[in-house]
Order: sequence, then C-alpha cells, then structure tokens
Amino acid sequence: MIVTTRFAPSPTGQLHVGNVRTALHNWLWTRKHGGRFLLRIDDTDLERSKEEYVEGIRADLAWLGLDVDGEERQSARFALYEAEFERLKAAGRVYACYETPEELEIRRKILLSRGLPPVYERKPDRAPVPDGVAPHWRFRLDHDAPIEWTDLVRGPQHFDPGTMSDPVVRRADGSWLYLLPSVIDDIAMGITHVVRGEDHVSNTAAQVQMFAALGAAPPAFAHEALLVGTEGKLSKRLGSLGMASLRDAGIEPIALAALLARLGTSDPVEPVTQMAPLVESIDFARFGRAPARFDEAELALLNQKILHHTGYAAVADRLPAALTEARWNAIRPNLATVAEAAEWLPVFDGPFAPPVPEAADRPVIEAAAKVAPGIDWTADPWHALTAAVKEATGAKGRALFLPLRRALTGRGHGPDMAELLPLIAKDEAIARLAAA
Ligand code: GLU
Repeated sequence: MIVTTRFAPSPTGQLHVGNVRTALHNWLWTRKHGGRFLLRIDDTDLERSKEEYVEGIRADLAWLGLDVDGEERQSARFALYEAEFERLKAAGRVYACYETPEELEIRRKILLSRGLPPVYERKPDRAPVPDGVAPHWRFRLDHDAPIEWTDLVRGPQHFDPGTMSDPVVRRADGSWLYLLPSVIDDIAMGITHVVRGEDHVSNTAAQVQMFAALGAAPPAFAHEALLVGTEGKLSKRLGSLGMASLRDAGIEPIALAALLARLGTSDPVEPVTQMAPLVESIDFARFGRAPARFDEAELALLNQKILHHTGYAAVADRLPAALTEARWNAIRPNLATVAEAAEWLPVFDGPFAPPVPEAADRPVIEAAAKVAPGIDWTADPWHALTAAVKEATGAKGRALFLPLRRALTGRGHGPDMAELLPLIAKDEAIARLAAA
C-alpha cells in the first residue's frame, strides 16, 4: 500500500492559513511514509470556480514547499461520476426526489415543532411522480449498517444512519454536490488517508456508506480540530489571511510550516529551518481535539527566531550583493525579516550620517579617532580599539561601548560589535569616528 493523500480545495477563493494547514498535514504525512501527495481541484461548481484561484493555489503550495505528485481536476472527470451514479441508481442507492426547497422547509418546521429530529422523510417507492419536474437525487443510507470508523485524531466514531437525512448528491440541473464525486475520486485515486477539518465529520459519516455502496473499503480518516484566531474563533481576518499578505509581511514559508505543523499538537513549536523535523514528527495521535489557536504575533516571533540561524545559502538570492556571508551572519540575530537586511548596508558601506554625540561621550570618540589608524583591522579591531580607548580615557562598560557603537553604526543597538567592526572598512570606520 502506497500512502496516498490529497488536498482538495475548491478554487472559489484564495487559500487561507486554515486550508494551508490541512495541505501541510497531508503533505507531511505522505513524505513521512514515502507516499504520494495529490492536488485535487474540486471545481465541479463551474460558475464559482476560477482559473486564477487554481493558479493561486498552485503558487501557494509551491511557496510553502509542498511539492505535489499529481494534479487532478474534478471538472475533467464528469464521465466517471456519471457512470458511478448510474451504477448506484441501478442498485437503488440513489433515488429521484421532487420536493421543492419550500416543501422541505415546511416539513422540517413541522418535525421540529413536534420535537422530532428534522430528518428527511423518504417517500414510498410508488409515490406519484410530478409532471415536468426534473428530479434531484439523494443517496439512500442503509439504516441497518451502523457507521463506524476509528478516526486518527478523534478516535472511535459512531453514527446511527437512521438519524441522518439521505444526502442530496446531485441537483436537478445535473450538477454535482461535493459528497459523491469526492468518494468516487478517493477510490479511483487510491487515497489511503483523508486528512481534513473536523467540519467534515458528518460528511464522512455519509461518505463511509458511499464507499461501501461503490464496493470499496473506506480510507483512514484524520479530522483535525479547526484553526481559530487569538479571540477563540475563526475571525474574518484569519479566514481571509492569504499567503500573499504573509509573504509581503516577510514571513518565511518555513516559519509558517513550523507553526502550522505543530499548532494544536502535543509537540512544541520549534524554530526549524528545514521541513525534515516536521516530516519526522507528524503523528495524528498527537493532535489535540481542542481548536488550534493561530497567533500572527507568534508567527512573527518564530520567523525572527528562525532567521537567527538561517544559513546564507538559503537567503543569498534575496540579499543585495554587498551583503556577504560574514555580514549576513553578523546581522541575522537582529533581523525580523530578510528584507530588513538591506537596511544594514549603509552601516557597512555608507552613505553614513554620523549621529551627533552627547557631550559626555566626546572624549571616548575622540580617543577612538586618534588610536584607530594604528589598529590592525585584520585581527580583532573591536577589542583592540576598546582596550586602547579604555586606557586613554578610563571609560568602561556601557560608557565605553555605547558611544562607539553609535558613532560607528549610527544605532544604539545591533549585532555584536566584535563581529561587525571587521566587516566595516577601516577607512570608513576612521572617517565615522572623525566625523562624530
Ligand atoms: N473541496 C472540499 C473542501 O474544500 C474537500 C473536502 C475534502 O477534503 O474531502 O471542503
């Protein structure tokens, strides 16, 4: 058995963090098991599906590093759905229905008013067929076959089909609802694990019987708790938070993956720089049942932590050429985003407008300007410089280091000066001290 999963978005909008999390878990699971990860575009709704969203979905998965082993589109598979539908019809597992939405709503209200569950009531087999009305179609649940599965996240699940409405699978205009094509595809594509949000649990209950009706064993199911915002529900903002806005905010794909892989699980979120440890650790048994809380501030902080040990090779193509490996290594502990690195270029190479030093700091800077020309810049210029200035002025600690840092970098804080100073040209450093 080759572990095979699919991510099955409807291309009716851009992906948000919640969808991407589901995609990631599917991908991690297959990579862990050497399996196949499919992208299935659920575009049966021809009106609402848009090509630009399909492209957006592909681009977002690629950005996150989720490579796919195949792509399928439901709109190219209508012939298969038709054939399977005919098979179910012949077997009496789908049947024609003629009620209008209004009639159904009235029946629902009557049942509720009698304190009964609003379950769809089947008509007797020989009920009269109204003239000139195209039917819609329902799947006939088998009331004698209890619905059970052991969910990889939720544990044993049990549904009584007698308390469920026969689901509509096809509209009167011939178009498909999500339920049946999904099962037909899961069978045809050899899907072994269906990983999706827990909002699909009741769909799964009906789908379990569809697998059986089509003569297939159901796949394993993992229904993950939903993602919520810091306020405890899926806010509008979170529900629409797309990859483009995260990318524009300087979030690295690996930071998003690191957070989404572990959020809501019993494994800690860690500042990893590679997917490998996330692949290694994915285990649905470690997923919690409570909603996973997504916090943008936590993501920003994680992004920062990850940059602090991100190697030059991973970012070189996004850095100005003058930001060499040594310079990257020096500044990365001070970066929140890769884009910020460019802000350090003037600190290395100028142009540089020296800040006006406070009067009390002048002696330190003047002493430094005097001794700097005699210092060997190829060794450890910062320690040599501070030692000489300390001897000349008696200044020490903050009173020694801070004025020099300000005069040499224009900033009150930043990377370790011992690492930074050798990366600023000697002439440039002397000029800055003299100008201050
Ligand atoms: N197109 C469905 C959705 O986006 C797919 C659900 C599934 O994974 O089966 O909700």
